This record gives sequence, C-alpha cells and structure tokens, in this order.
Amino acid sequence: MNPKEIIYDQRTFDDEHLSCPKCGWDGNGYQAHVAGFYGIGKFKEVLCPQCNEYLGNLSRESSYGEGGTRLDSQIGPS
Ligand SMILES: [Zn+2]
Repeated sequence: MNPKEIIYDQRTFDDEHLSCPKCGWDGNGYQAHVAGFYGIGKFKEVLCPQCNEYLGNLSRESSYGEGGTRLDSQIGPS
C-alpha cells in the first residue's frame, strides 16, 4: 500500500500499530515521528523514528467544535 494513501485519525493514532518497511521498526503511533506541525497542508507526516521513512499521514483534524461560528439566538424568530 502506498504510504501516501494511508491516513491515520488523530484520535486513534496513538494506539495505531505501525511498522517500517525499511528498517523494521515496529511500534505504536505515539512512538512515531510526526512532522509538519508548521505546515499549511491538511495532513501531518508520519515518519519512522529510526530512519525517517515516510509511513503515512496524520489527519490534521481539529477538535475545535466550539467557540467558532456558533449560531446565536439573535437570528432566531422572535
Ligand atoms: Zn525505519
């Protein structure tokens, strides 16, 4: 499977089982190296902590559910 097509969910990534095809590293998501925090892309890159092999993507899903565009009662019928 092409690692570019693998997209991990941020909520479950820590428990995700990962293995590196290049150096044989084997571990969980929280042990992997995640890059791209500073980027503007939609995903962060998941890299092998030992050899930096590209293992997949991590969804940059935000958990900002609130505080944004909350509809107020101002526009409701009165
Ligand atoms: Zn590796």
